[in-house]
Amino acid sequence: MLAVLTGGTGGAKLIRGLSLEVEPRDLVIICNTADDLVLYGLHVSPDLDTITYTLAGLADEEKGWGIKGDTFAVLEQMREYGWQTWFRLGDRDLGTHLTRSAFLREGSSLSQATDRIRTALGVKASILPMSDDRVETRIVTPRGEIPFQEFFVRDRWSDEIERVYFAGAERSRPAPGVIEAIRGAAGIVVCPSNPVTSIGPILAVPGVRAALREVERPIVAVSPVIGGVAISGPAAKLMASAGIEVSAFGVAKAYADFIDTVVVAREDEGLGVRIAGLGLRAVATDILMNNLADKRRLAHEVLALLGPMC
Ligand code: GDP
Repeated sequence: MLAVLTGGTGGAKLIRGLSLEVEPRDLVIICNTADDLVLYGLHVSPDLDTITYTLAGLADEEKGWGIKGDTFAVLEQMREYGWQTWFRLGDRDLGTHLTRSAFLREGSSLSQATDRIRTALGVKASILPMSDDRVETRIVTPRGEIPFQEFFVRDRWSDEIERVYFAGAERSRPAPGVIEAIRGAAGIVVCPSNPVTSIGPILAVPGVRAALREVERPIVAVSPVIGGVAISGPAAKLMASAGIEVSAFGVAKAYADFIDTVVVAREDEGLGVRIAGLGLRAVATDILMNNLADKRRLAHEVLALLGPMC
């Protein structure tokens, strides 16, 4: 069994590749839920949905979110009623949020709701929220504190960041299966996801980081950064605000207490000596995933680094 830690965009690309290289039933995906939000009374879990749609073959891989070919008639109607519609929810996507919210209202936990949704969509891999408890990424800016999606989507990450924290993290518990997956895995992959706001919240759930540190099987992380630049999104800005060097070295250092190997871009091969100074191995390869062949090749290389068990 292979355990995978992920956010949405970068993680989904590698997971698409992994799903072609390992038996999907042997994949347990532990997903960030600190980006979740409530819209129109519906519980929206962007990262869980991106991963579920990716594995169900429904994802809009060009946009990086939502369902391919989705329409936005409901959202247009919501706008007529005066609602804000900056967070784009397609009509079919709304079917997922209605379903999840109904399950939660009926008393299901987030992990049970997630499992029912992925099963209905024919996804064989296990998809686990990091926690069934509410953990919320908060971005502290000079003009006040805002939730992650307002910073990321509404304001297109224009604000200066003073601090990021995960409200509710200290009181949260790992969702059922999370610690078991970490302890039982033949290998663990940390996806090329945002280290601060995608992997950070997972590591902030009490017990997760400690479990990762104790693992004896290999743990491989893939860098979401090439040179001093994030491949997409606000990772560079968020890393800088958290005092993490914006480089594959910074990513490696942020995970140095529990990973063994970091996969970096060929351009970053020169960081190998500094990364070795952290007690880690750096492996340089092509880490850009622009198409299915890239995703599969990178997944194959990552699995090879985990050894024969995977
Ligand atoms: P989010 O929940 O949408 O923020 O998704 P993630 O945290 O999983 O993904 C965002 C990260 O993916 C960003 O930091 C990007 O730099 C990284 N990323 C996007 N595309 C690629 C890619 O093709 N290769 C690698 N290595 N990283 C990528």
